[in-house]
Amino acid sequence: MAVYICKNCGSVVESNTTPHSAGCPKGGGHFWIKACPKGGITPKVGTHPYQCKKCGITIYCSTTPTSAGCPKGGGHIWLKL
Ligand SMILES: [Zn+2]
Ligand SMILES: [Zn+2]
Repeated sequence: MAVYICKNCGSVVESNTTPHSAGCPKGGGHFWIKACPKGGITPKVGTHPYQCKKCGITIYCSTTPTSAGCPKGGGHIWLKL
């Protein structure tokens, strides 16, 4: 499944479609950015762990996640763990 990160609150979900925007704890709606097309929030076969050194989020993706939309501002800086 794809991995989505809300750039407002830093929530991480895995979904095949863009998740609902309602209910962002930072107010208003979640602003979902697709971090990678194939991966998850837990380790899966064929994925590698990546951690953003700014916001601390760790996700598991088959390819390097997109840098767009770090909740700490600007872009994620992904380190392959
Ligand atoms: Zn949110
Ligand atoms: Zn980040």
